[in-house]
Amino acid sequence: MKLILLGAPGAGKGTVAKRLTAIDGSVQISTGDILRGAVQAGTELGKEAEGYMNRGDLVPDSLIMGIMEQRLQMDDCKTGFLLDGFPRTIPQAEALKTLMNKIGISLDMVVNIDVPRDVIFDRLCTRRTCENTKCQAIYNVKSMPSKVEGICDKCGSNIVQRADETEVAIGHRLDTYNEKTAPLAGFYEKEGLLKTVTGTSSDVVVAAIEKALSL
Ligand code: ADP
Ligand code: ZN
Repeated sequence: MKLILLGAPGAGKGTVAKRLTAIDGSVQISTGDILRGAVQAGTELGKEAEGYMNRGDLVPDSLIMGIMEQRLQMDDCKTGFLLDGFPRTIPQAEALKTLMNKIGISLDMVVNIDVPRDVIFDRLCTRRTCENTKCQAIYNVKSMPSKVEGICDKCGSNIVQRADETEVAIGHRLDTYNEKTAPLAGFYEKEGLLKTVTGTSSDVVVAAIEKALSL
């Protein structure tokens, strides 16, 4: 399947993407994971992106398009892909459309995961992430703690609070989302690709996607 997962930070895009991957082997492409990997590895890309990310600002469209142009042409995308955290602005969506026309691929659907803001805020404040960039497993101190406090169940690395998951940065990320990313729903509505799923449970969201795609 070739999908875009839209939704606020903390809406559950990553969790839903991981579950969909298991269905047909489509790859999850998370620009946030790619950028955090680059920051940790200290690459040029990481150095450019880090300041924006820690403040909760978007990194410039040109950096993101450079990443995605390469990523979408890798072999593993042929089976399908789940875009998680991209596109995030109208210019990114326009550039993605041009890029897909150029490389001859088309989207099946754009899923807008709609979760109330108070739920989102609470989730992000209690979210923890495995610091191993190859893992980046997600936990929640309230709803999904690791078996051993502070240690990742999957890889044994430390679980940390992300630098952009302080209350100030979270508030800023949500404002940025409303201003820059929420308009993408209208963009994809016009393209005839939008499917909005309201719900705080990833089971419900995954089931709605399977139904819409007749899987
Ligand atoms: P979340 O969806 O939980 O906010 P992500 O892991 O998707 O987190 O993104 C973390 C940060 O990486 C964003 O706040 C932003 O700085 C940057 N980022 C990720 N994807 C994009 C994108 N498509 N365009 C611009 N910045 C991005
Ligand atoms: Zn881990």
